[in-house]
Amino acid sequence: MPARRDILTGGLSLAVLAAVGAPARAEAALRGDFVQGTLIRGKTEPGAAVSFDGRKLKLTETGDFVFGVAYDRKEPAALKIALPGGETEEKPLAFALREYKVQRIDGLPDKFVEPPPEVLARIERDNKLIGAARSRDSDEAFFADDFAWPVKGPITGVYGSQRILNGVPKRPHFGVDIAVAEGKPIASPVGAIVAMAEDDLYFTGGTVILDHGRGVSTSYLHMSRIDVKVGDRLAKGDVIGAVGKTGRATGPHLCWRLNWFQERLDAGLVVPKVG
Ligand SMILES: [Zn+2]
Repeated sequence: MPARRDILTGGLSLAVLAAVGAPARAEAALRGDFVQGTLIRGKTEPGAAVSFDGRKLKLTETGDFVFGVAYDRKEPAALKIALPGGETEEKPLAFALREYKVQRIDGLPDKFVEPPPEVLARIERDNKLIGAARSRDSDEAFFADDFAWPVKGPITGVYGSQRILNGVPKRPHFGVDIAVAEGKPIASPVGAIVAMAEDDLYFTGGTVILDHGRGVSTSYLHMSRIDVKVGDRLAKGDVIGAVGKTGRATGPHLCWRLNWFQERLDAGLVVPKVG
């Protein structure tokens, strides 16, 4: 069994929020790694008011909430909880700094490293579609479930890597790359509503974005086949399509991404660790 990471790690313990010995104070259980690029899932009393860095978080009916932390965040954050009974708790949360890898990829067609002017409008359109899909703030509580890997295979690219494409430094890579054969089915990691299904985006080719509720989304890039359409309601394990190498890819793999709204997070942190 892979180790579960239900309790805060990286220097803070659950006791920080549980306020041991003061049962009248606000309590919340938090789940996630306390590192840069993390998704933290929490649960408190339904009806509580919760804010993260001053941003109000909408709770589900069961009191679940969620927030994400930027890949380069250095300063602590403040989580504030006000229970329906009036008790409040405010605590700083610290996130451990990570050391990201440098990844060099050579042999890409130049059009994917420096896109020619004639495709800039298309890229802008793609980005608008992606941005809209990731802006959804649906009432679904799928994000509170345990995520499974959408496909299993060797990890060939990790979150946060500084990318050097054909010798040109680019912005970091925010996906987890899983190298498996073209045509291998991709499964929804938890329940979801399909937020975007596009078969030909410039950089990412066949691309699906799944909405797991409250701004949590996952993205599937370079797909060879898409079996779902926008609005479909999926259960954990439902097949959304197949692995491919469409768009900017040097070989078949799934580039899997996790977002909290526009914040790009590490999908590798929400699934069981692989060896
Ligand atoms: Zn990738």
